[in-house]
Amino acid sequence: MHHRSEPLFSAMTAAFLDRSKRNFIGGQWLSAQDGSTIGVVDPATGQTIARVPDSGSAEIDLAVQAARRAFEHPSWRRAKSSERERLLLKLADLVEQHGRELAEIEALDNGKPVEVAHAVDVGMCVSGLRYMAGWATKIEGSTLDPGLPYMPPEGEFFAFTRKQPVGVVGAIIPWNFPLMMAIWKIAPALATGCTVVLKPAEDTPLSALRLAELIEMAGYPAGVVNVVTGYGHKAGAALAAHPGIDKVAFTGSTEVGKRVGHAALDNMTRMSLELGGKSPVIVLEDVDVSRAAAGAANAIFFNQGQVCSAGSRLFIHERVFDRVVEGVANIASQMKLGPGLDSSTQLGPLISGKQADRVCRYIESGVEEGARVLTGGGRADRPGFFVAPTVLVDTSDSMRVVREEIFGPVLVAMPFSDVDEVARRANDTPYGLGASIWSNDLRAVHRLIPRIQAGTVWVNCHSLIDNALPFGGFKQSGIGRELGRAAIDLYTESQSVLIDLS
Ligand code: NAP
Ligand code: MG
Repeated sequence: MHHRSEPLFSAMTAAFLDRSKRNFIGGQWLSAQDGSTIGVVDPATGQTIARVPDSGSAEIDLAVQAARRAFEHPSWRRAKSSERERLLLKLADLVEQHGRELAEIEALDNGKPVEVAHAVDVGMCVSGLRYMAGWATKIEGSTLDPGLPYMPPEGEFFAFTRKQPVGVVGAIIPWNFPLMMAIWKIAPALATGCTVVLKPAEDTPLSALRLAELIEMAGYPAGVVNVVTGYGHKAGAALAAHPGIDKVAFTGSTEVGKRVGHAALDNMTRMSLELGGKSPVIVLEDVDVSRAAAGAANAIFFNQGQVCSAGSRLFIHERVFDRVVEGVANIASQMKLGPGLDSSTQLGPLISGKQADRVCRYIESGVEEGARVLTGGGRADRPGFFVAPTVLVDTSDSMRVVREEIFGPVLVAMPFSDVDEVARRANDTPYGLGASIWSNDLRAVHRLIPRIQAGTVWVNCHSLIDNALPFGGFKQSGIGRELGRAAIDLYTESQSVLIDLS
């Protein structure tokens, strides 16, 4: 037995990797029209593990047309809300049954630890599908007694509002939570009766293609969900600018989000944008030092720091600064790096060599500007795209490492002396996605919460996402709220009806 050559993944995953990868358009599996493909890389080894279609405007156009036909077709347009609920519950069961396999695909493609992928990514998908299945039968408008002061007094009127699906949705998603981001878009779209064209990230297209197979198995009518792989500047840009979509749902960087938003506005396409962040972690002086250190480490190092709401700026009260920062550095220096499929791995590789280089350049820029590396500081000495978990101190608020989103395992830790100061510095960023406050001082916490400009404020935890809790950004972190009831509003149009009964 050659231990090293034993596959670390199941026969199901091996079979999936062996199948040829095609776009899922109108219920058919189609290659790019010119046959071109993009290599999919395992970031733990740098090796190509699959090839997917390199699609462009022709494939996007085909998919948007298929989604439009499916939206108009009675089998979907007239489907009862209870049928949409049933299908979502069926899809949830299929995702759950194939959970291990999906987690393996995610670990291979993205690099994240497989157990985490199973518990968090797949777990959130299963519960998210079930949560949104519940909404399918609970979409409602309101009835009103209209005032109409300019009409004769004897008139009788009645008014109501109703919600209808927004239509064809173009969904463009990033590589950090590939399956989960797909579900965040697809689940509310299917709950409300929309149809979808999904463009996954070029770096992580595999779980979306496996999901498309499960959607087919669940029995959705052809064209209700379409998956088209390709580059952002090509397939993504064609989707965002397509006049045939009614809404674009985008998650990714603020820079690309603005481009997508401009393209959408030209067609008055509805849009929701979930963008970047530089989220503060605020540790008040009364904390339990070891709990705060563990929490702060998890806030930045979870998913290799590739989290939109990662706690990348750590503000610690000066009285506990040394002890908390030392605790975080200790945790960082002891993390076990390895491939996502190795169950002992705590920190996987970054998504790509390009991303690892970008993160390392940020660390270098910090050091050039005067920051001190407490632990980590660059690429880990092993094949694949690994960066050592890094803690920087002696930073100033104007440094690029403090101001810009790094999207990797790099933390800047800074002392503060009072709450007014930390509120101002925490908000001194163009972003506003998340923030956390670590303290047991109820009064201090409640007084600080409304002063923080962020879509989510966590207390004594960080980046915990719940399907019922709206998620999204203030300021340049985006427009709109996903999850919860808020997501239903994003995928519906409201129609007002006024009836003259006289
Ligand atoms: P990205 O470059 O903005 O990519 C996001 C998606 O947009 C990908 O599918 C990408 O295609 C596509 N894209 C690229 N250029 C495009 C264009 N001109 N038109 C239309 N689509 C285009 O971001 P990323 O590098 O994948 O992810 C990292 C960033 O996303 C970080 O800044 C992070 O903060 C943010 N993010 C935010 C959230 C949130 O919920 N707020 C969640 C996750 C990530 P490719 O596959 O070719 O790149
Ligand atoms: Mg990959």
